[in-house]
Amino acid sequence: MLDADFFRRWMTVTAASVDREAQRLTALDSPIGDADHGSNLQRGFAAVRAALEKEPPATPGAVLIQSGRLLISTVGGASGPLYGTLLRRTGKALGDAAEIDERRLAEALRAGVDAVMQLGGATAGDKTMIDALLPAVDALGDSFAAARTAAEEGAVATTPLRARKGRASYLGERSMGHQDPGATSAALLIAALADVAA
Ligand code: ADP
Ligand code: MG
Ligand code: MG
Repeated sequence: MLDADFFRRWMTVTAASVDREAQRLTALDSPIGDADHGSNLQRGFAAVRAALEKEPPATPGAVLIQSGRLLISTVGGASGPLYGTLLRRTGKALGDAAEIDERRLAEALRAGVDAVMQLGGATAGDKTMIDALLPAVDALGDSFAAARTAAEEGAVATTPLRARKGRASYLGERSMGHQDPGATSAALLIAALADVAA
């Protein structure tokens, strides 16, 4: 069973991974965006980490709801509301249970990804974070490790795609041949989940 501490560690391991990979995320956002994805997420997850250290919420759902709120309020870019919605909606779906089993997490995360698709209007193949998140959620029924692999493969598979949502879509065909920064950071989020579960 997964408790509030598991979810806190998921967020802090994500924050550390975003710190490590910030330059790479920003570099990916340079040719097809405005070169701020790494710094956007670094600012957001630093706020998440600080809040979790100060007064850690008592339930898994509350950890994700608080984290999502902070991403929405601290990240300037499109990714803030999108990741914020992912975590808040997933947290809401977890309810106020003190412990969550893996199946329930998979269902909640699917509700979170659905909410991101509603908010941003992106679907599979639009070259966004959805291209890492959807395959991850599908694979989570098998294992955390499978979800991690699916997210990483989904991120790499955005490279040839033409962006249909977000800033990169303004480039039309010129968005092709570049890996999507948001799909790459989504793979970090899922990898952190697999790390904490391992
Ligand atoms: P901004 O584009 O505002 O500078 P970021 O650089 O932080 O925001 O985030 C860009 C990432 O957000 C993209 O790489 C993409 O994965 C994701 N994104 C943008 N728009 C959407 C959308 N409508 N739906 C899903 N993901 C999106
Ligand atoms: Mg950007
Ligand atoms: Mg921006």
